[in-house]
Amino acid sequence: MKSYFRANIDAMHGYTPGEQPKLANLVKLNTNENPFPPSPKVAEALKNIDYQRLRLYSDPLADDLRDTIAQINGVTRDMVIAGNGSDDILTMVFRAFADETHPVAVLEPTYSLYPVLAQMQNTPAVIKIELELPFFTLPDNLLARAQGANLLVITRPNAPTGNSFDLSKMEEICRKFDGIVFFDEAYADFADDNCLELAKKFDHVIVSRTSSKSYSLAGLRLGYAIGHPALIDGLFKLKDSYNLDMLTQTLGKAAFADQEYLRQTVKTIRLFRQELTDKFHELKFTVIPSQANFLFVSPPDGDGQRYFKLLRDEAIIVRYFAGPVTGAFVRITVGNPEQNARLMQVTRKIFA
Ligand SMILES: *Cc1c(COP(=O)(O)O)cnc(C)c1O
Repeated sequence: MKSYFRANIDAMHGYTPGEQPKLANLVKLNTNENPFPPSPKVAEALKNIDYQRLRLYSDPLADDLRDTIAQINGVTRDMVIAGNGSDDILTMVFRAFADETHPVAVLEPTYSLYPVLAQMQNTPAVIKIELELPFFTLPDNLLARAQGANLLVITRPNAPTGNSFDLSKMEEICRKFDGIVFFDEAYADFADDNCLELAKKFDHVIVSRTSSKSYSLAGLRLGYAIGHPALIDGLFKLKDSYNLDMLTQTLGKAAFADQEYLRQTVKTIRLFRQELTDKFHELKFTVIPSQANFLFVSPPDGDGQRYFKLLRDEAIIVRYFAGPVTGAFVRITVGNPEQNARLMQVTRKIFA
């Protein structure tokens, strides 16, 4: 059959999302969802929604929601754009800054959606800046490697590795890189620090966040970006007019307004993260120091795939990324106490 697709679309593979299995009784630790429910303020807001409002279009500018986001981040509304998940933010950013003449630079390994978005833009190349073993640290030559790119994506904390990078090094990169520096901070709420101040300080730096992980709202689809008003203005030109529905704007606002609930749940997840880290260490696993709500761990035999399959046989679903480096690891979401206990019980049975 003759293809009418653009050549780069024919040549590309689509993004493969983590599986969302429908089976009950699974211990689902594969897509970094939050084990806690969303804030009770979200439940209240949901109850108070008048369904008749669905007759009307949602606010294309999402002004109320952006005001709340601006307030919690200490910026003005014109520095905020919201999206249908931070994946929507990423789509806007790649549409805006990835073209057919400049490469895009990303880390390796990292979130595998970036190269897919780059291919849609038909960029000449995706520069993959390899992180250094054994702990997936940044190479000293990062800036030289990223040279020529118009867009540098730094995922901090990184996924699937979970570690973060020195904040002063991030500032140095922002000072020296001639292009957009985009910090994907999907996991920043679980980390010791973040790059928000860099987005306030530099007019070529954007930070993105999501409600999917730390706010327990993966199903709502709500993310946002913060940057200089001129950058945000440009992104507004290419967003879908009504990219956020009324429900998302209303419920998202309620979630962001409840910072106390965020603090409590994040604190607990960080505690669970430490407990799991200690237990994996006892079993002689390699654990990449995590600043996120998941762990990237390598079993003592270095066979990530085998461990992945053995967990699966016991109805525990984690994420495995094939490859010469990542294949030694699996990525495991920090779950609730029952899930974590079951995970460690099965793991002990395999490796003790
Ligand atoms: C989960 C994740 C996202 C996407 O989040 P959504 O807001 O659910 O679209 C973006 N970047 C990274 C690194 C992620 O892990």
